[in-house]
Amino acid sequence: GLPALARRRTVSVSAVASEPRVEVPSSLQNNSSWSPASWRSKPAQQQPEYIDKVEVEKAVAEIHRMPPLIFAGECRTLQQRLAKAAAGEAFVLFGGDCAEAFSQFSANRIRDLYRLLLQMSIVLAFGGGVPIVKLGRVAGQFAKPRSAPTETIDGVTLPSYRGDIINGPEFTEEARRCDPQRLVRAYNQSAATLNLLRGFSYGGYAGLSRVSQWNLDFMKNTHEGHHYMDIAKRVDEAIQFMIACGMDTNMPFMRETEFFTAHECLLLDYEEALTRRDSTSDLWYGCSAHFLWCGERTRQLDHAHVEYMRGVHNPIGVKVSDKMAPNDLVTLIAMLNPSNVPGRLSIIVRMGAKKLRDKLPSMIEAVQRSGQVVTWVCDPMHGNTETVSGYKTRRYENVRSEIEAFFDVHDKMGTVPGGVHLEMTGDNVTECIGGGASISEDDLNSRYHTHCDPRLNAEQSLEIAFYVAQRLRQ
Ligand code: PEP
Ligand code: MN
Repeated sequence: GLPALARRRTVSVSAVASEPRVEVPSSLQNNSSWSPASWRSKPAQQQPEYIDKVEVEKAVAEIHRMPPLIFAGECRTLQQRLAKAAAGEAFVLFGGDCAEAFSQFSANRIRDLYRLLLQMSIVLAFGGGVPIVKLGRVAGQFAKPRSAPTETIDGVTLPSYRGDIINGPEFTEEARRCDPQRLVRAYNQSAATLNLLRGFSYGGYAGLSRVSQWNLDFMKNTHEGHHYMDIAKRVDEAIQFMIACGMDTNMPFMRETEFFTAHECLLLDYEEALTRRDSTSDLWYGCSAHFLWCGERTRQLDHAHVEYMRGVHNPIGVKVSDKMAPNDLVTLIAMLNPSNVPGRLSIIVRMGAKKLRDKLPSMIEAVQRSGQVVTWVCDPMHGNTETVSGYKTRRYENVRSEIEAFFDVHDKMGTVPGGVHLEMTGDNVTECIGGGASISEDDLNSRYHTHCDPRLNAEQSLEIAFYVAQRLRQ
């Protein structure tokens, strides 16, 4: 039968919530004025060491002359959608590669990721009964934070790979050199990627009448693929019914879909070069993506990344592990969203199921007590990385368990699970273990393509979507 109608708990959040009850310690108060370059006066973690500074200046100046990749009005729309998610009236689906790569740039790959995100959003919207905010880790997700500055293999030590915008993944001295020309190439690849994504979103590809055509070829004979097609059939029937009732198929929601881009705000030279003042509001926006987030390794309260992010008016996020003290989280939120605007700030929790059950409640409690509104998002990937037979991998079961824990904690506390953040690809890779199709440890070497963290493949991602839809419905 049809799924039960959604009975989600929603909370009322006014357009601008009340002043939060938080005192930012005076040592952290930012009385000095913000500018796109004010981060330069603070310590910046995880930045590349370029040898030729003149080359960097040239590359940055070139990007500064380039058009913005996104527009302020789009950011404001996204912020409204994220405010809905904070209130339980929408749900965020956030997904894409750990790191985009120059060598893996292809229209088909972009299409397959996009199509998978659409499929998942149909599963979530149909099963969960809420609008889905689609946010891709794409068109700019190039820079990577590393746990160590160097890597040693067979007695040879070289600088770590920091993402294609900085250096190359091959283990050679030449590849690992930080090359400023890569900044320009990353901008260009982002622009071309975004152009295709905009085409898909507004050119008819994403039309609701095409849900059954989004199925990926290699998924046609899989359990998750069939399960998806059942839903697609029901969506088709619902649309036919609405047309019979007189619905106009030219309505925008039938023909188009909103899609937003996001990446980690890590490489500050690049972000600064794309920071622009919006002509309609006079406010500063980071114009490299609609949504920027601050990583777990760069969220120090008195450092450069937080300084940069406080001044741009995009919706933003912060990754948070169990290592963050609830009081510091409250202070950070106050620094990044002093006017407590709903949708401005997402807290992306990544700690593993067990730690999440232990630590998330006190974080939620502290944030609630402070009166701050945030959109809580679950990243079930980064607390679940392990090495198996020499491969960095993740177990499907652990990923699902963390999502389960996230929903359980919010259920218990009466708060709102606002979204999921996944590392995933539409490619038929074998990087994560388990799931319905049961990729085993021995399969890891067959199609392990990521340059960074292991991604869920299409079938595993859809399986997660079915699980989340079921939790949304409860
Ligand atoms: C990532 O999202 O790829 C990442 C590095 O995450 P985190 O900052 O949470 O470790
Ligand atoms: Mn990652």
